Amino acid sequence: MTSIAVGVVCGPILCIWITVASCFCPSRPNRNTESPEKKRFERRQKMAPRPLAKRAPNHRLSISFPLPDTNKRTVVNGSYIEKTTRGPTIDQTLTPLMRLPMELRQMIYRYVLGDSTMHMVLKEQKLGHLRCKAESTITCPMGYNGLTLSRECCWGKVDSANIWSPQNGNKEEPTDGGIVPLLRSCRQIYSESIKFLYSTNAFSFSDLDALRYFSCTVLPQRFNLIQNLDIEWAMAWPIYDPIAQQLLLVNPALYPPNDEATWEETWRIISNMPNLRVVRVSLLYFDGFRDTACEEKMLAPLRKVTRPETFEVHVSWQGQEITDAPFDLTRDKSDIDSERES
Ligand SMILES: [Zn+2]
Repeated sequence: MTSIAVGVVCGPILCIWITVASCFCPSRPNRNTESPEKKRFERRQKMAPRPLAKRAPNHRLSISFPLPDTNKRTVVNGSYIEKTTRGPTIDQTLTPLMRLPMELRQMIYRYVLGDSTMHMVLKEQKLGHLRCKAESTITCPMGYNGLTLSRECCWGKVDSANIWSPQNGNKEEPTDGGIVPLLRSCRQIYSESIKFLYSTNAFSFSDLDALRYFSCTVLPQRFNLIQNLDIEWAMAWPIYDPIAQQLLLVNPALYPPNDEATWEETWRIISNMPNLRVVRVSLLYFDGFRDTACEEKMLAPLRKVTRPETFEVHVSWQGQEITDAPFDLTRDKSDIDSERES
């Protein structure tokens, strides 16, 4: 009797919720096989960056330190060849920069390459990084572009597949964060300075795939230097809610990166980053979670991230307070709470 009563009471509520979600959800269900989500997924697959090829030790860009003693170098026309590296390396020890003590050189490297926020964007078959124009990630304005949370007003536009699309149509516009000229100037400078790029910048992601691709397109030892991550993500579909998925969607229920597998893979990568100190996450979900069990399943992969000293998660929906997690969860305040405070 109780289950019948629950069914009678909850049935209409569930139907209304699905109807409302269907009307207002930004990615409305489309049961055609050629749904916008499928087309979007296919374009993203086509534009995915290729993982880093395994590089032979003698083909690495960085050079080993300390540099070989001058007397032990094979000098040919003012250049010397280090046997383990590719190509000749011109001796730089007498240049004005290299005559400075290492501490001063490191200050210069950090000033040029570090201490900023780098917005990572998907480009056609590669990733781009755009230096944040705000003073910090916290002050960088965040908005919703119709598909996901982003900071487009800081770095420009994306297309419907969330691939960076500069407003003036000039796809050659630099997306290197202004770091490439210094890094390309000299292999010794590259080798001495590259660590500051990864260890002192905050890396900001508005797309889960961008983080996944980043992790497999840079050398693991570089990726592992990252200390500061910022992630914003809109959950447009009922993630971890099989009943709602069954009613709203066709198979595959959710296209990556909106599916549970991508979500879990993202957090597996983050949980394995050994030097993370600060992680800030902002999640948007218009409908919120129907019940705490679904929300708990969504938050479970985040619980494996235990290394950061600061781990803040902000969600746009209401729910129960969570105190036993490695992150500090804050929620958008309801209109009633806001009115009471004012
Ligand atoms: Zn910014």
